[in-house]
Amino acid sequence: MTERDYYEILGVGKGAPEAEIKSAYRRLALKYHPDKNPDDPEAEANFKEAAEAYAVLSDKDKRARYDRFGHAGVRGGNGGFGGGFEGFSNFEDIFEAFGFGDIFGGRRSSRGSGPTFGRVSGNDIRIRLPLTLEEIATGVEKRVSLKRKSRCPECDGNGTTASDGLLNCDQCGGAGQVRQISRSLFGQVANIAPCGKCQGEGKIVVKPCRLCDGEGCVRSEEKETIEIPAGVSDGNYLTLRGKGNAGLHGGPSGDLTVLIEEQEHEHFVRNGNDVIYELGLSYPQAALGSEVPVPTLSGTSMIEIEPGTQPGSLLRMRHKGIPELNSSRVGDQIVRVSLSVPKKLNDEEREMLERLAEMPNINAGNSKEGKGFFERMKEVFS
Ligand SMILES: [Zn+2]
Ligand SMILES: [Zn+2]
Repeated sequence: MTERDYYEILGVGKGAPEAEIKSAYRRLALKYHPDKNPDDPEAEANFKEAAEAYAVLSDKDKRARYDRFGHAGVRGGNGGFGGGFEGFSNFEDIFEAFGFGDIFGGRRSSRGSGPTFGRVSGNDIRIRLPLTLEEIATGVEKRVSLKRKSRCPECDGNGTTASDGLLNCDQCGGAGQVRQISRSLFGQVANIAPCGKCQGEGKIVVKPCRLCDGEGCVRSEEKETIEIPAGVSDGNYLTLRGKGNAGLHGGPSGDLTVLIEEQEHEHFVRNGNDVIYELGLSYPQAALGSEVPVPTLSGTSMIEIEPGTQPGSLLRMRHKGIPELNSSRVGDQIVRVSLSVPKKLNDEEREMLERLAEMPNINAGNSKEGKGFFERMKEVFS
């Protein structure tokens, strides 16, 4: 998608003063406001485009960045899934920023607005789910406890058991909504708002159910099984439709949204689908070569160390990493070799090391190439 220039969208020049930008935006917002253009996707797109342009050009810092770097200068975060979560303060922000369904193929529920005629949708529930790298590598089924509103078994969610227990709300006449006129940047705007008296339900409970006190739902603590596929990342979320709070008076239940949190691992650092492990070798192990045990996400494996292995070497253990989400590819474990130097020596060890230090191949060490550190670095970076 090509992005239009913000100045062009508002129809003003590059050097336009604040006041001109504001009035240009006001004009476009009035023209394309959804209240004036119901069911017109093109107008809605224009309205959003103008709002975005105004949000940037009306902000001194953002405008300066936009002038220098274009759209790239004002794009927030890195935008990708699994990344940029830190930048958002809550779930709504994530949903707003991404604006579509989650990675697991679900879609954000779209419960219609409009008169509810007594049926009220349940609220969504959001939880965080901490996972270990091992759980992420294999995928896992988690049982979690949820405090949830569930449909009242006594009145089946109606709020009353009496046939004459519900009356139409006198404030909104049963519509559940009221029109409000408010003043805004665009002049007078008519808003449709949920009725304050009946909370949008359109009905008033006059003979409340004894168990739920007319609410139609009861609080309960329930267990829910959540299946996590292998390969998820910190910041991913999945949505379980209808697993949120129960709706009122037969309304649909909300969703359960689960945010994945990756716990830090004592051995591994994750890099995409690879995991990095630092292996400390003794000098003899590195010089002579050996076979050493290495922890992996699926248990201990042996790794072959070639004679003469240098500290800083990267060894690859194929397919010992994390599976790619929704794919058959599996990452690797990268083993970075470091040298373990003993801090304490007994007399015998000290003596042997001193003798060793005089041996020509041992002593060659850093003078082997006949060049100092800076010369060698220059060669590397030239
Ligand atoms: Zn009402
Ligand atoms: Zn009840």
